[in-house]
Amino acid sequence: VDPAGASFQRGRWFERIDAGATLTAAMHMEVTTQDSAVDSDGDGLPDVWEREGVTLSDGTAMPLNQWGADPERPDLFLQLNWMNSQWQQAGCDTPGADAAMCAQMSVASYRPHRDILQQLVDRFDQYGVNLHIDAGDTYTNIANYPTRHGGQTEAYAPYYFEGTIPGMKLVDNIDTLLGARAAVFRVGVIGDQMQRGHWGTGLALVADNSFYVAKHERMRTDDQLRNTIMHELGHTLGLNHNGSMKFANEVPQSDYLPNYYSVMNYLYQFTHFNYSDEESVSGGPLPEVCNQPGMDCYKGDYRVPADWDNLMINTGKIGKDYNSTIGAADVKVDGKALAAQQEAMQAAEDAQGSVKVAVVDSPQLHRGENTVSLKVANPGLD
Ligand SMILES: [Zn+2]
Repeated sequence: VDPAGASFQRGRWFERIDAGATLTAAMHMEVTTQDSAVDSDGDGLPDVWEREGVTLSDGTAMPLNQWGADPERPDLFLQLNWMNSQWQQAGCDTPGADAAMCAQMSVASYRPHRDILQQLVDRFDQYGVNLHIDAGDTYTNIANYPTRHGGQTEAYAPYYFEGTIPGMKLVDNIDTLLGARAAVFRVGVIGDQMQRGHWGTGLALVADNSFYVAKHERMRTDDQLRNTIMHELGHTLGLNHNGSMKFANEVPQSDYLPNYYSVMNYLYQFTHFNYSDEESVSGGPLPEVCNQPGMDCYKGDYRVPADWDNLMINTGKIGKDYNSTIGAADVKVDGKALAAQQEAMQAAEDAQGSVKVAVVDSPQLHRGENTVSLKVANPGLD
């Protein structure tokens, strides 16, 4: 491969021939992939990146070797970003804010709780995939990872895709939230409704690097949010609502295959926290869920290969920074500080919804009116 990363090579050859004569030309082409292209575990990240780290074309150091990447086990890197609450966006968390206005603002948080992110990591681990999450200060399971890019970075918007072409907005998110790091990371944004009057739960680019999760007022539980993240992430891993896109021509085009037990299936998005791990075959009585309104269950025959056997972690962007250089400068990491930060986050999450009240002064109380100063603190994360 040309060092500049050219995908096409061109040559010219001149030969003088007499009028009326014929020339036959043949070309022999030999293509060899260089050792640096070897990707043993098929996750798109070349082995050499995982063993020695990589410095991306924009100069960003990605010491994958220090972050726990394994050339023999698929590694999937996910950055999660989310919206400010409406309340915070309006400046209601600053002293002197307009109390009457702030009383009208929604305090709904779009932050995913740490435990559901850990449950996702554990589920992928169970099936042999290292899921590495950067959720900003809130959560990361990436070792030696001081500079976070995930977290509450996005402005509040009641309708995230209003006035945009949704697919293009997801493409733009790859540029704005990942940039060159799209050669390693996928990105998911969590926010409110996608469009006015629309209660869908998310949108994703199939077999690509970007998705959106709509944590709107009808998405009430952590389990629903967790399952929806897994569903939309699944689309970026090449899964459709009827299994892997690899078999799109062999499997019926239905979002409701009764025996396809997967979080990708609309029938089971909120009740089945997993991709399918065995082949799904038609037959037997229709499950109860098919009686619910809008659940248009497919009644013909089908066979859907297991999702877990057909994940496409390797998208068109993963591992494809041709101007990158092998190796990454050592990042100075204060492991103790990182661990302390994570513990503080955990403590704050555990204290969610509680209030700390302390008496500031303890005056001698007299008959009649007294003034006592109290300090009220919110030890929770939101
Ligand atoms: Zn979907």
